[in-house]
Amino acid sequence: MNIHEYQAKAVLREFGVAVPRGIPAFSVEEAMKAAKELGGPVWVVKAQIHAGGRGKAGGVKVVKTLDDVKKESERILGSVLVTHQTGPKGKQVNRLYIEEGSAIAKEFYLSMLVDRVSSRVAIVVSTEGGMNIEEVAHETPEKILTITVDPATNICPHHVRNVSKALGLDADLQKQMSALLTQLYRAFTEKDMSLLEINPLVVTKDNKLICLDAKVGFDSNALYRHADIMALRDETEEDEKEIEASKHDLNYISLDGSIGCMVNGAGLAMATMDIIKLYGMAPANFLDVGGGASKEKVTAAFKIITSDPNVKGILINIFGGIMKCDVIAEGVVAAVKEVGLKVPLVVRLEGTNVELGKKIIKESGLNVLPADDLDDAAQKVVAAVKKAA
Ligand code: GDP
Ligand code: MN
Repeated sequence: MNIHEYQAKAVLREFGVAVPRGIPAFSVEEAMKAAKELGGPVWVVKAQIHAGGRGKAGGVKVVKTLDDVKKESERILGSVLVTHQTGPKGKQVNRLYIEEGSAIAKEFYLSMLVDRVSSRVAIVVSTEGGMNIEEVAHETPEKILTITVDPATNICPHHVRNVSKALGLDADLQKQMSALLTQLYRAFTEKDMSLLEINPLVVTKDNKLICLDAKVGFDSNALYRHADIMALRDETEEDEKEIEASKHDLNYISLDGSIGCMVNGAGLAMATMDIIKLYGMAPANFLDVGGGASKEKVTAAFKIITSDPNVKGILINIFGGIMKCDVIAEGVVAAVKEVGLKVPLVVRLEGTNVELGKKIIKESGLNVLPADDLDDAAQKVVAAVKKAA
């Protein structure tokens, strides 16, 4: 789960992290009130959306008068920001963050994330702050330092030394870095974060290390033990189909392609997505209906897939083990009766109760293209979509 920058900064502040003073605003009036309270003389008006790259897209403005706070707030609030992280459709700005301005001397990059290879938290730093870090990694990888933290020892003096050396910090800043790394690492582990990205981490003109931006993501599987974090969820930032899927306990991820997939088992779902790619198209989603799905759950899943306007064809691929093929068939038939079927549907069933499943589909009179194996199914759905186009 992701949260907004202003929420992330509030969480970090609890751990003592130095962040600029700021106040969130949901209207231009609130933005003006916040600006007056902060006092100036410099303010930053920041769009709050769950995506980075706002600066380049005009969603972060440094201003020097209350008039300009008003002007920029009016312009940004309600507008649609398109950044390299939002996709071409962009995201509507419904919240602002009004912050006191900082006088920047240097901008660095610092992040913490779960490194699966070392099974540790990794710290990534670079002197190239404020920029797109993917670009830095691609063009000048030598400017990025990655170190990992042993969970038994936490942050140690050598971490601080290595990071400070990479960033060229003086003795005073090194002391501040020692405190900052300890605070950030504590926040990361105690709140079960999956990503904590400070870009930029800045040195101000009076030699203070502060976090000017903060992007935080949490491990969804640990949210049950963080009611305070769960309360920060902003559903308007999430994919509607994913929210609906989570209500039915379906493992669903929305993707950019045109073939809707309904599969049981995460591994089979991945394989199905791969084979769709192999035959020249892309999956519109990842969906694992799970082992013991009920007819209702299958119906809900099918409705979510058909509600996606990008879906031009559907591939159902079920290997019945615990999941019974007849249950899938009943769910699909029920869903089609309710919402109709406007795109080609290929069904591949195998395993428990397969004959019964095939019979249910056949007798339903649905326009289904049956397939014998995964290869056949993927080829059939791709061909059917091309033909319909
Ligand atoms: P992002 O573009 O979504 O990552 O948004 P950021 O919060 O990182 O802001 C983008 C850029 O705006 C930063 O890299 C800074 O260069 C600039 N910026 C943000 N806050 C301030 C500030 O208080 N003072 C100045 N001078 N620049 C700022
Ligand atoms: Mn940033």
